[in-house]
Amino acid sequence: ALQYTKSENIDAKIKESREFFYKRQFELANSPNPQKEDLEFRLSQLRSLYWGLKDHEDEITKALEKDFHRSRQESIAFELIPLYNNILDLIEKLPTWIKNEKIHETGDIFKFSTVEIQRIPLGSVLIISPFNFPVLLGLDPVASAIASGNSVVWKPSELVPHTAALVEKIVVSCLSPGLIQVIQGGVPETTRLLQEGSFDKIFYTGSTLVGSIVAQEAAKKLTPCILELGGKSPVFITESFPKKDLRSALKRIFFSAFCNSGQVCVAADYILVHKSHYKDVVSFGKEILNELWPQFDENSEFSYCIHDGSYQKTLQKLEETKGITFNSQSASFKKVGRCIPPTLIFDVSWNDSLMKEENFAPVLPFLIYEDLDEVIDNVVELHDYPLAMYIFAKSDKEINHILRRIRSGACVVGDTMIHVSLSEAPFGGVRTSGYGSYHGKWSYTSFTHERTLLRQPFWIEALNSVRYPPYSNKKIKI
Ligand code: NAD
Repeated sequence: ALQYTKSENIDAKIKESREFFYKRQFELANSPNPQKEDLEFRLSQLRSLYWGLKDHEDEITKALEKDFHRSRQESIAFELIPLYNNILDLIEKLPTWIKNEKIHETGDIFKFSTVEIQRIPLGSVLIISPFNFPVLLGLDPVASAIASGNSVVWKPSELVPHTAALVEKIVVSCLSPGLIQVIQGGVPETTRLLQEGSFDKIFYTGSTLVGSIVAQEAAKKLTPCILELGGKSPVFITESFPKKDLRSALKRIFFSAFCNSGQVCVAADYILVHKSHYKDVVSFGKEILNELWPQFDENSEFSYCIHDGSYQKTLQKLEETKGITFNSQSASFKKVGRCIPPTLIFDVSWNDSLMKEENFAPVLPFLIYEDLDEVIDNVVELHDYPLAMYIFAKSDKEINHILRRIRSGACVVGDTMIHVSLSEAPFGGVRTSGYGSYHGKWSYTSFTHERTLLRQPFWIEALNSVRYPPYSNKKIKI
């Protein structure tokens, strides 16, 4: 069982994290070559983290399997490879990002000044992560915070006890002592962290409801937050979408809707299908589901719902739904574990229970529409600010229409979910799906403060008389 961190140890770890940061800055300030030493330290920590994970890859995938019956392929492809790539990217780019940015084009007033932007570490940062990709969504921000020169307090999700315990062991053994403090636990432990800690930033990934609790606690101490939250991400298959591509479109949609059993923040949550395509979408949808899971049973490589609560809630929603349910489970399917087969639900309406909140389960509702503006009205009214939005359309007019009317964290045209592995663009939500962003250079800037450093020479003193008293009209004449 996962050992939760005791209150007094939480307080001690918060303190140690701050002290580690101050001590490190003191040592660097007294070092003969602080820039070089700082860069070398951060790089060595990132390399060590990379190898620590690589060396324990098998154990990690086994822990994930124990926690939610996750297949090795999903753990490697969607959790570990993206994490390795992100750490390697940080290692490659850090020597460039760590340099001060010289500002060459300043106006006449600063013609003789030297201006640069320093990106300084924030201090001790708190990272709180969710259960669904516990290694990636925990250690990606941890690695970014370390690359940016911070010390870290990390609270993994308590819902994946095997993974949380194992990854704690790995990070504590491969990182410099004190650089990371791991707090294990649930709501009481996280509440204590938020109330007792004085962090320089909080990076929270999880539900919108808890995100609001975190932000309110943070506001009491003016702690800036990055909130990576959830939402109901819609998919549009519009009138202009070519029929010949419908099958591929559905495959691309099922890819995110059923990955990790639908427990993906950017999963396709529901599909809005133009009536001209609806009949084909229904029949192709059934065919493709059978193609992807020809013999679905409880032993299939398919993640389980994370806990009994989410399992029961999804079953209840399915029971309440007035739509037509379809899945490809084999006749011998036994209800064991918390396994729900990938399920399509056709003819769903807006007031159906599956359309109330983010489903976060392997269920995909299909809604039919006739008028694009009317269906957008519903999205905007009921589920505004989704974390992602997916458009399958050919006409730019339709695409731009949707883009203009719905605000979303990101939008992919012609696919789903793949934007999460893009390191050249920011990843984040908008308002209820979160604020702030990371990935690529945004990971670096999110965990640093941009400090303007201006150096003014003294030989220009003669030019300064205009700004000193005694004031006179002559001095403000332009
Ligand atoms: P959650 O909000 O229940 O838990 C996240 C973390 O918050 C956990 O570490 C948990 O211990 C802690 N927590 C839970 N309740 C708390 C409380 N009352 N006070 C303080 N801390 C508390 O989320 P989850 O179920 O682990 O993850 C699913 C949610 O996360 C979904 O909504 C999903 O969309 C979202 N998510 C978002 C992203 C993103 O990048 N935007 C990524 C993954 C998941």
